[in-house]
Amino acid sequence: QSNPAIQDLDASKLTITRTTTLRPVPEPDSKEIWSVKACTDHMVMVKWTEDAGWHAPELKPYGPLTIMPTASCLHYATQCFEGMKVYRGYDGKLRLFRPDRNCARLVTSSLRVSLPPFDPVELEKILKAFLAVDGPRWLPKSRPGTFLYLRPAMIGNGEQLGVSPPSEVLLFILAVPWPDLSTSSPPGSPPKPPGLKLLASKDDTRAWPGGFGYTKVGANYGPSFGSQMEGRKRGYDQILWLLNNKQEHEVTEAGASNFFLVWKTREGRTEMVTAPLDSKVILDGVTRRSVLDLAKERLVEGSRYLAGEVGPVDVVERTLTMLEVEEAQREGRLVEAFVSGTAYFITPVSAINFKDEELDIPMGDGTSGHYAALLKQWLGDIMYGNVDHPWG
Ligand code: PMP
Repeated sequence: QSNPAIQDLDASKLTITRTTTLRPVPEPDSKEIWSVKACTDHMVMVKWTEDAGWHAPELKPYGPLTIMPTASCLHYATQCFEGMKVYRGYDGKLRLFRPDRNCARLVTSSLRVSLPPFDPVELEKILKAFLAVDGPRWLPKSRPGTFLYLRPAMIGNGEQLGVSPPSEVLLFILAVPWPDLSTSSPPGSPPKPPGLKLLASKDDTRAWPGGFGYTKVGANYGPSFGSQMEGRKRGYDQILWLLNNKQEHEVTEAGASNFFLVWKTREGRTEMVTAPLDSKVILDGVTRRSVLDLAKERLVEGSRYLAGEVGPVDVVERTLTMLEVEEAQREGRLVEAFVSGTAYFITPVSAINFKDEELDIPMGDGTSGHYAALLKQWLGDIMYGNVDHPWG
């Protein structure tokens, strides 16, 4: 910063005020976990003001925020957030997965809605300090293989009805137990058959070139809930968001996950395809990037990881259309499909409803495609410390 009075985010200034009333920790896979409301004992709050920049971060008991009805975020969607997890490893350690990526992505999102940037390395340090306080009690060593969901968020919270960027901002971080959407269903509901059923969008568009689909701003989510509810009513788990629906029917992403298709090309090669980032329509998912990195490293000719049904693949980021998917299905060239993301992790896709016709997608052994299963295993091993890896 050129003006020394304007401070950047500084983790070393964190103050810690511990709660005197601890909150109950829900049992694994309980109703409380599925309600996603049982936040941990503390939260972090950092204020930003136009004249001083980032104030000292505060860790304090979890509780309500107070904002004025004229707060910018309530009117002009000056809001963005992140979603990531902290994992209790089988080696007893708490681990974040590529947190540098989430912290950098929050800066990207904040800039898109005219919220102030910060040094992402400092946010990473603050997250770790927060987890040093709430992690041990909420993810006890006796429960390896569990995780908490972390929600860093930013809001323009100044009193500001004028139509302009906020002059006061709040960055806050909370942590909450979250159900494992990739393997379990809510208590009392029948177990779900394996594989997600996707409903391809028709009239609604999630994001468009020149928009803000590449960011995690709340304005990408609220408007998608109508389609999501419609899909649920019709028995589908997620919306497969298409673009250019009058002509090309480009596949972008699925719900709040990225989408991958594995197919055989007409030349007989196996390809793993996902939508590209260049038109800024999809989110640069941390899981997506990790799938691409691992596949490019391990699913290549001569790799020791290849075995059985898992042969080498060409990994391609390119525009994929539903017309191509339909054609490949007719010609028997589809191998499998899966989604990737923090919430759904790696989950196979069993069907896509496109223009009211259901395309069945092969699922390897019937529970998961072979590539999805392998990638899930590799990533899970890193997250839960079964292997040492720089991402964990
Ligand atoms: N797309 C969207 C729209 C999302 O909200 C998410 C969840 N953050 C993803 C993809 C997956 O991203 P990640 O792997 O970083 O969770």
